[in-house]
Amino acid sequence: MFMQKFNDLSRKKTARTLALLLIFVFSPATANAQQANPTTIINAARILDVKSGKYLNNYAVLVVDGRVRQIAPRAELARNAPRGAKIVNLPPNATLLPGLIDAHTHLLDERLLVQEFYDNNAVRITQRSPEERMALGERNAREMVEAGWTTVRDVGMAKDCDALKLRDRINAGQAVGPRMFVACKLLTPPGGLLLRPASEYAEEMIRNEYFEIGSEDVARRAVGENVQAGADLIKVIVAAEERMLTVPQVRAIVAAAHEANLKVAAHAHTAEAAQIAVEGGVDSVEHAFQVRDATLRQMRERGIFLVPTDLSIAAVNELFARMLPPGFEPRPGIKKYRKEQVESAPERLKRAIAMKVRLAAGSDVEWIWTGRTRGTASLLILDAFRQAGMSPLDVIRAATVNAAELLGQSDNIGAIETNKFADLIAVEGDPLANFAALKRVVFVMKNGEILKNR
Ligand SMILES: [Zn+2]
Repeated sequence: MFMQKFNDLSRKKTARTLALLLIFVFSPATANAQQANPTTIINAARILDVKSGKYLNNYAVLVVDGRVRQIAPRAELARNAPRGAKIVNLPPNATLLPGLIDAHTHLLDERLLVQEFYDNNAVRITQRSPEERMALGERNAREMVEAGWTTVRDVGMAKDCDALKLRDRINAGQAVGPRMFVACKLLTPPGGLLLRPASEYAEEMIRNEYFEIGSEDVARRAVGENVQAGADLIKVIVAAEERMLTVPQVRAIVAAAHEANLKVAAHAHTAEAAQIAVEGGVDSVEHAFQVRDATLRQMRERGIFLVPTDLSIAAVNELFARMLPPGFEPRPGIKKYRKEQVESAPERLKRAIAMKVRLAAGSDVEWIWTGRTRGTASLLILDAFRQAGMSPLDVIRAATVNAAELLGQSDNIGAIETNKFADLIAVEGDPLANFAALKRVVFVMKNGEILKNR
């Protein structure tokens, strides 16, 4: 049934492409059109200093030109308030926090639990028009920021690196969403990732989404092309089924990326792939469901981040209950995903915490999920950290100050501090005392602009 739908879609493709071109060419907004945001004072009963873990009570934050300029007791800031400053009084039970950072998103992509991973990919990446994918990306971007995610690191599955365009549209004020740090084409072993063998879409998918790495020379060229295209980081798929990159290939990728001042995120599920990533010197290992203790130890020693991308068991159960029809037998890849999420993921997250590996929050949530937006579904990853025994403060750190460091953005985001971007959220309640409060986001400011205020 869905194939029929996609044939219909491609017939409409030409007309839509034309329409989109017209929008881009004649849009009045330009990269320089973003207006300066007003000077604002935010009064809060509690402000969390994520680094010390302490609350500042009855403090206020002065925001000028999109950045935090002063943090001081309310009364003091009120006395010295710049004329005409906009005043925001947060609800008396609210807590002000730094905006959350999701270090693993796919905003131009979505998945249906009833389909195999392969089929999701073929359909989404090759059969949708650019404007359909951009509309999806813009919707997800808005949903993310409204849920409190003011920054994301987007790691592929966008076709033709279109996440770069979404990033630029958000930066130009043409779309509402988080700050985006974007990987362009994914560097993979020859044959790409998540492709049904001999599928009619495989070749197109490889051309659009992947850079096949067969040698160190190709590895360097792939990094160079991504840099040229405007990528903010390099994403490398260390292993796809039995196909694997070699340690020297990963090292060549990392050297070229670091030369260009970009970090490298490595997708690795198996023990062997995680070990190759670590020996190759990447900056973060994503997923690492089967990682060995010896590899975790090396990650800790070298300061390599783990981005676990786990849902809590309760969240996995909710997803499967809502998105699989009763009696429906999940596809093998989906069954494997469930097993990983319920069995290996919680166990290895506990090991990583015990070994003090640095952790950054990354959702990897692409599911179409009844009753949740992309943003609120992504918040469920925070429960997985709690489930593994992390304190509320450490979970918040994984999604703020740690993730900022992984992105190389510690000077700009991840904490409420003078001269950092005014990326701030307020939640209803005290998230250190009652973790559920973290999901009740009532206020969002990004770059000094208020995007949500209930
Ligand atoms: Zn992912």
